Amino acid sequence: MRRIGIIMMLIIVLMMSFLTGCTTPASQPQAPASKDVTTDVLVLGGGGAGLVSAITAAENGANVILVEKMPAVGGNTIISATGITASDTKLHEEAGLPFTVEDHIKKTMETSKGLADEKLVRVLAENSSDAYDWLVSLGLSYKIQSAEEPFWIIPTEGHYGAQLVKAFQAEAGKYKNLEIKLNTKATEIIVEDGKVVGAKVEGQDGAYAIKAKSVILATGGLNNAPEMIAEYNSNYKGVNTEMTTPGPTGDGIKMAAAIGAQLKDMEYFQMRPLSANGYWYKEVIVNEEGKGGILVNKKAERFVDETMKPWDLAAEILKQEDNMAYIIFDTDVYNTKDGKKAFDQGKGVKADTIEELAAQLGLDAATLKATVDAYNAGQDPFNRKAMGKVTVGPFYGVKTLPSSHYTMGGVAINENAQVLNESGNVIEGLYAAGEVVGGLYGAGRVAGNNTLDDIVFGKIAAKHALGK
Ligand code: ADP
Repeated sequence: MRRIGIIMMLIIVLMMSFLTGCTTPASQPQAPASKDVTTDVLVLGGGGAGLVSAITAAENGANVILVEKMPAVGGNTIISATGITASDTKLHEEAGLPFTVEDHIKKTMETSKGLADEKLVRVLAENSSDAYDWLVSLGLSYKIQSAEEPFWIIPTEGHYGAQLVKAFQAEAGKYKNLEIKLNTKATEIIVEDGKVVGAKVEGQDGAYAIKAKSVILATGGLNNAPEMIAEYNSNYKGVNTEMTTPGPTGDGIKMAAAIGAQLKDMEYFQMRPLSANGYWYKEVIVNEEGKGGILVNKKAERFVDETMKPWDLAAEILKQEDNMAYIIFDTDVYNTKDGKKAFDQGKGVKADTIEELAAQLGLDAATLKATVDAYNAGQDPFNRKAMGKVTVGPFYGVKTLPSSHYTMGGVAINENAQVLNESGNVIEGLYAAGEVVGGLYGAGRVAGNNTLDDIVFGKIAAKHALGK
């Protein structure tokens, strides 16, 4: 009786699937829908890593499709305001300012608190001089930041990230075998017989599949996914998204995890504690020795040692009412470059007395006065390392919010930029480059290494995918 029931069930399922046209079991290759397209290399995401991968694959003769979910390419790469980190470049040689590959590895490992994968870090550093040469070959021009910071290479003029994306776009435009599909979101990685063979996408022309011999994941981090950030690290619950473009919402990490990719270092983020109106302010305005201002919450009270590490400071601010704080500083701090910048960009308020400042910020005047007086008298329940003074009027107040600046965690890769599964084995056909990668920076990233890794691992992914 039971057996008959099962056979009947099977017949019904087969008939149903015949009628609905869904006869193919999930493990079998599906017949392509009429809209489905094929290519050699499919790149998901059009920030720095995606554009470099796509250009590299195209210049090596492959047919390439890059899908970007936003109406324009650029991602968070376009807002990279600083520069690139590179070692043993021609610039270092010309300037007589050494920053060697070994220095580069050491600095990256130390900043990661020893958690980064040293094999990947070595690949990054050893390829950095070539990456610099490539940027110069695209017409970009750089100089070393300073003798004190020789690791840092910055544009001779103009905005670093905007220039970079413009140059990549111009380069991508040279290749007829490279198609960029904007407003097209990857929704799922397609696996057949244990190998990645494409991705499902949704564009303005509907949903379809793009089949490819290799897929390069370059969807960036999760800076614009505050709930997801809080899931991975509850210290950052309520984090703001001041310092990100809209696209990086962790899609690639979710899609890769759904097919068994290993995720690494997901609890680590680079948080900037002080930001508002789309800018971040250097923490020196609250922790410069003998000069810094203070942070107060909505009760007009100090709550923290303002000199603690930026990401710990961010977590402390996020614990306060409305996840924010006010920076209070005096004219001495205002007169520094960073004080003025914070005031202007943060659209701060200014007053001759602390009580008037409190009124403008909507804080209790007597409490703020008591807080500032106690601080000026050296009373410090938080064991602040370097005490300053808030004594010279006029006084300034700026509202500040912690923002996520960089996602350290992401999918695990090997030196060929191949994505690894939870057992550490390669997921055939799937590569990753850029901020979607985890394991490269552990608990902390050297500024400027990130656009370097876009280039280094973007190129490696494309070349390995093509057997070059
Ligand atoms: P990276 O430096 O790693 O290139 P970016 O933030 O510069 O990172 O770029 C990532 C890009 O990926 C962004 O332009 C973002 O809009 C895009 N992106 C994110 N998720 C998707 C998705 N599901 N489909 C297509 N593009 C995506």
